[in-house]
Amino acid sequence: MRIFYTCKQAHQKLSENLDRELSLAERTQLKIHLSMCRSCTNFGTQMRTIRMAMQEMAKGKSSDRDEP
Ligand SMILES: [Zn+2]
Repeated sequence: MRIFYTCKQAHQKLSENLDRELSLAERTQLKIHLSMCRSCTNFGTQMRTIRMAMQEMAKGKSSDRDEP
C-alpha cells in the first residue's frame, strides 16, 4: 500500500474535494502530503479561493447589491 500521495494524486484529490467530501483516509493522506509539499498547499489554497469566488458570484446573481 502506498502511504504518500504523489503531487499528481494530491492535485486530483484537491479537485475532487470540490465536488464531494473526501473519506477520512483520503483527507489524512492529503494532509500529510500538504504538510510536506508547498506547491500542493498553494494549489489547494487557489482551489478554495476559486470555489469561494464562484459561490460569491452565484450568490451575487440573486441579490441586488450595488454593482460597478
Ligand atoms: Zn505535492
